[in-house]
Amino acid sequence: MRPIIIAANWKMNTTPADAGALAAAITAATNEPEVVRVICPPYVSLAAVRDTLRGTDVGVGAQNVHAERAGAYTGEIAAPMLSGLATWAIIGHSERRRDQGEADPLIGRKLRQCLDHGLRPILCVGEQLEDREAGRAESVVRDQLRGVLEAAGLTAAEGASELVIAYEPVWAIGTGRTARGADAAAMSDAIRGALRENGWSAAAAEGCPVLYGGSVTAAAIAEFLAEPGIDGALVGGASLKVDEMAGIVARAAMTARARREAGGAAH
Ligand code: PEP
Repeated sequence: MRPIIIAANWKMNTTPADAGALAAAITAATNEPEVVRVICPPYVSLAAVRDTLRGTDVGVGAQNVHAERAGAYTGEIAAPMLSGLATWAIIGHSERRRDQGEADPLIGRKLRQCLDHGLRPILCVGEQLEDREAGRAESVVRDQLRGVLEAAGLTAAEGASELVIAYEPVWAIGTGRTARGADAAAMSDAIRGALRENGWSAAAAEGCPVLYGGSVTAAAIAEFLAEPGIDGALVGGASLKVDEMAGIVARAAMTARARREAGGAAH
């Protein structure tokens, strides 16, 4: 059974002075052992959040890694440098695709770095509004996945235990506009289909968690978690608000319990 994951992307918010307190407050307000919780602060706040979360089951994630393991890349952070600071990493976020011009071959190399250096990757994919309106949202996402997986040289055996995919329609990020649950569910099918097309076994593709991201709030999350193909959320703006995170994780815990009970009944 796939885990239910709620990952907080704090983006370029918080400082080392206040990140620990926010992480502590979110952790206390979201104490649900059946939900995998991850907090991704800015690099400079990783140590503060790690120290605060020591002894809890909340994971710490980076928001990016470099595509190389070391070298003359001023201002960059490589995956091995995150050892002891983070165990997860977001890669391919649409804000980096937009602002840093990141494309699938580069993101695939970042994925390879994550896998080689003990970081569990949350790979973001998603279409632009014009792609959805033109009816090519699924083909855009399939192409993104193919490009990333090829560049990473990712085998099904590795991917089955590590890779998490976040479907984030670009037009829904930070806009207050969400996709429809049914569209996210259809995309989760397309994503697992793309994994099979790229050589994954049916079981490995089925085992890959797919999250939804895009203006998720406590009020909006239920529609997505009602879809059996969606396994949680990557939360941006709302992840800086303790009450919102409490509501999101509480709803995720209901889903985790319901799926566990339904899974148990099926066996
Ligand atoms: C994100 O940062 O991945 C995201 C989905 O942001 P928001 O929830 O603010 O739309």
